[in-house]
Amino acid sequence: MAAKDYNPYKTAQDQFDRVAGMLDLDQATRDLLRNSLREHHFSIPVQMDDGGKKVFRGFRVLHNDARGPGKGGIRFHPQETIDTVRALAMWMTWKCAVVDIPLGGGKGGVICDPHNLSLREQELLCRGWVRQLARNVGPFSDVPAPDVMTNAQHMLWMLDEYETIHGARYPGFITGKPVGMGGSLGRTEATGYGLIFTVREALKEMGIKPEGTVASVQGFGNVAQYAIELFTRIGGEVLCVSCWDQEKQQAFTYKKQDGIDLGELFPITDSFGSINQEKARELGYEALPGGAWLEQEVDILIPAALENEINAENVNKISKRVKLIAEGANGPTTIEADEGIKEKGIFLIPDFLANAGGVTCSYFEQVQSNMNYYWEKDEVLGKLDIKMTAAFMATSEMAKKNKLYMRDAAYVIAIDRVARASQNRGWV
Ligand code: NAD
Repeated sequence: MAAKDYNPYKTAQDQFDRVAGMLDLDQATRDLLRNSLREHHFSIPVQMDDGGKKVFRGFRVLHNDARGPGKGGIRFHPQETIDTVRALAMWMTWKCAVVDIPLGGGKGGVICDPHNLSLREQELLCRGWVRQLARNVGPFSDVPAPDVMTNAQHMLWMLDEYETIHGARYPGFITGKPVGMGGSLGRTEATGYGLIFTVREALKEMGIKPEGTVASVQGFGNVAQYAIELFTRIGGEVLCVSCWDQEKQQAFTYKKQDGIDLGELFPITDSFGSINQEKARELGYEALPGGAWLEQEVDILIPAALENEINAENVNKISKRVKLIAEGANGPTTIEADEGIKEKGIFLIPDFLANAGGVTCSYFEQVQSNMNYYWEKDEVLGKLDIKMTAAFMATSEMAKKNKLYMRDAAYVIAIDRVARASQNRGWV
């Protein structure tokens, strides 16, 4: 299917329908959960720097809040569509449910390209987004966060507007705030560390000691860097990483036979996670094609860059040595590739479980903000470990007991929890 024809909402609904069948959900529950509970579509007029007015389209979708307030980011993107936002909101519901945090799923967006907006225009856009929704979002109803092309500064402008409208301080209205302004320690590390907590548990179950295991990683951004840091601390080695080269407009894989060294790579990596090729070669790294990360003789593959990277074309190139795939990225594996992974007998930790450390820490940020009392980093990361480990064990238990693929087991747990919460409230 051509990328332009790909509709993530259709994919999300198809995935839901399949698991609804496995759970034998009644029709009303299916009708409730395969659609958004509430959607807001609105216009945001902004006075531009040239004195003219421009009107932007904004969205907020609440997929389900039976288990707690909605949670999910706000994306600024020129190709944003309501169906993308709907799909992402639904996936947030399942992600919060599988790690058993008391939050539902939401997502927001604005059709815009922030690269073409001055800081002042971005601030007005953020404040305008909140003005349209100030009575429909909040610390106890629906809690936004940063996402594609939005950052901590955008969150602070949104918080300020929300608090101005409501006349009091509500730091729990939004997450992704800077530390010292309501943000949580440990959030930067949370997704990468959370991923490795699940890898550690999976290896334990397979009877493999992490010491001496070798991994290959796609991506060298926030998720990958912290995952690599913790993985090497528990004794593993990373043979190679791949990243995008903005100048050459293609991806490369950087490999060192005795393992990559973060201390060497950090100084030659930019803030977008791109490694400088010339400097990497000087340090003795081989620069291989972007897809080479997947074909290495390693024990563990960690896709932590983009969606659809393990697909029907390359799944057979995965080496026989690979025993575990831990999905750091969202949606890195296509449905067709899942079949290949099953045939090869590779253990998979699915994305919405493996990368749920981020949202779990955002939940911790919200709890701290609502209390206006902030925890030490060790406390945050300790609580994160407990949550991720418990979620992994529950999913793996479900998979073993019912002979399910791990992705299906995670979906069954998540959808069952949300279905029960909706039924227990008497909604269906
Ligand atoms: P990031 O922007 O910090 O890093 C992305 C990395 O991917 C960069 O190193 C970039 O060079 C690399 N990359 C881009 N295109 C590539 C290609 N074609 N081949 C190889 N590498 C390529 O992003 P991130 O925050 O680390 O997020 C990575 C993935 O994890 C995304 O799918 C994101 O949705 C998901 N995720 C992130 C978080 C989080 O808290 N950051 C939470 C959950 C899921």
